Amino acid sequence: MTAERIDGKIFAEGLRGRVGVLAAEFTARTGRKAGLAVVLVGEDAASQVYVRSKGKATIEAGMAGFEHRLPADTPEADLIALVETLNADPTVDGILVQLPLPAHCDEGKVIATINPDKDVDGFHVINAGRLAVGQAGFVPCTPLGCLMLLRDRLGDLSGLDAVVIGRSNIVGKPMAQLLIAQSCTVTVAHSRTRNLADVVRRADIVVAAVGRPEMVKGDWIKPGATVIDVGINRVGGSEPGKTRLVGDVDFAGASAVAGAITPVPGGVGPMTIAVLLRNALVAAYRNAGIDLPENAI
Ligand code: NAD
Repeated sequence: MTAERIDGKIFAEGLRGRVGVLAAEFTARTGRKAGLAVVLVGEDAASQVYVRSKGKATIEAGMAGFEHRLPADTPEADLIALVETLNADPTVDGILVQLPLPAHCDEGKVIATINPDKDVDGFHVINAGRLAVGQAGFVPCTPLGCLMLLRDRLGDLSGLDAVVIGRSNIVGKPMAQLLIAQSCTVTVAHSRTRNLADVVRRADIVVAAVGRPEMVKGDWIKPGATVIDVGINRVGGSEPGKTRLVGDVDFAGASAVAGAITPVPGGVGPMTIAVLLRNALVAAYRNAGIDLPENAI
């Protein structure tokens, strides 16, 4: 069997297109653009790339992007004061504080300052709680993107066995909550799980979010399963031209067994920014008190 390749790039382009149409409609109805503020503290190279591409994508979607770059030694109190200013700003619908923060800033405290109704990353405990009890809130972008790809490929997920490898607050845990809400039977595996290969072999759906290159082998996969590879790992050394990106799944091995699989790159990666734009637009509609049809995006 050769697995179908789940093309996250094409899906993400479609989602961004739908967000763009609804963003224009929002502007027509309210006389202002939906606004997304991104805060970056310090000079972390990867974070700078992420923030730049988020800003560009925001503008391309027809929304207003507000970028706040602060020096690495910004006192925590100043960062919190900025978040409070953004909370109070009616032109800002969504606020994203790029992580990681410098060591002297308490990430939990900063995230807790964000108004949960502007928390488009879905990291605030109020939004984690809303997800856990099935209330409308904001769901972290990466797992929500994974769910969109799964729904697109499989339709109704109810009754399926799903294994999520990884239990981080950003990916693994919210992914498990989303799959429970879809009536899957969910197993969350992590670094202490015994016989991981056997656990994975039971699964109709495998979501790998570990951060270990090609850890999940082809012979762990149940024939016909759908595999979502969240991992982004750089391998091959730092010499230019030698580095390549691989996922947490052995793509060649798993492709021979699975029904469908996301590639790395080009699978889950492009979904994350597209879902961020989607969340920002949803925030704008909610904050303006305008109904957005349930499954519009
Ligand atoms: P994390 O380090 O916070 O969590 C990793 C999880 O893997 C932990 O819960 C740990 O228990 C589990 N784990 C570690 N070793 C294991 C093992 N041997 N067997 C089973 N489980 C094990 O990472 P994260 O933030 O959840 O990210 C996971 C991966 O996803 C990383 O490669 C990251 O780069 C990638 N990621 C991609 C996107 C995207 O946009 N595509 C977004 C976020 C994270």
